[in-house]
Amino acid sequence: TCGFVAIVGRPNVGKSTLMNRILGQKVSITSRRPQTTRHQVMGIKTQGEAQCVYVDTPGMHIMAKDRNKAINRFMNQAASQALRDVDCVVFIIDRTRWSEEDQTVLKRLENVTAPVIVAVNKVDRLKDKRELLPWLESVGARREFAAVIPISAKHGTQVDALENEVMSHL
Ligand code: GDP
Ligand code: MG
Repeated sequence: TCGFVAIVGRPNVGKSTLMNRILGQKVSITSRRPQTTRHQVMGIKTQGEAQCVYVDTPGMHIMAKDRNKAINRFMNQAASQALRDVDCVVFIIDRTRWSEEDQTVLKRLENVTAPVIVAVNKVDRLKDKRELLPWLESVGARREFAAVIPISAKHGTQVDALENEVMSHL
């Protein structure tokens, strides 16, 4: 098997960290500052017979009203292009917060027919793990997702489960 996987989500949610974690090397710049990655970064993960091309896709959160600025227009078009031929999308959100930018990303996934897997990131920062279940349920109600998986990209928790889910769609 072989396929393309787009990693999408608002700035600072952990796209680049997840990308690096999956690939096992620092291919994508991570930062506390939002919008560090302005270009798409691709990496190939080979596991036995399977090859997976991961694309760290910034710019999906840009709202319609801001899309005429040159840099935004560039990022926005690149993001749309990346979604055109993907086999699977990993949509990263935060462990507790749903923002307007998350909503914008979700909206842009409306026309995507490839399966969308939600990665609920930064669960290592959850003070009370009991918050997680209702949160996963409320997220799962927002659209038909292939799966909703809590992860910690930073610590690697459940990233293998996420990768297995991705592979099952290639
Ligand atoms: P991006 O803008 O979506 O690419 O986000 P980054 O990967 O650059 O991460 C933004 C910030 O969140 C960085 O400071 C990361 O170290 C941090 N971060 C990413 N994943 C996790 C995680 O699982 N747990 C914690 N605690 N921090 C994370
Ligand atoms: Mg990034």
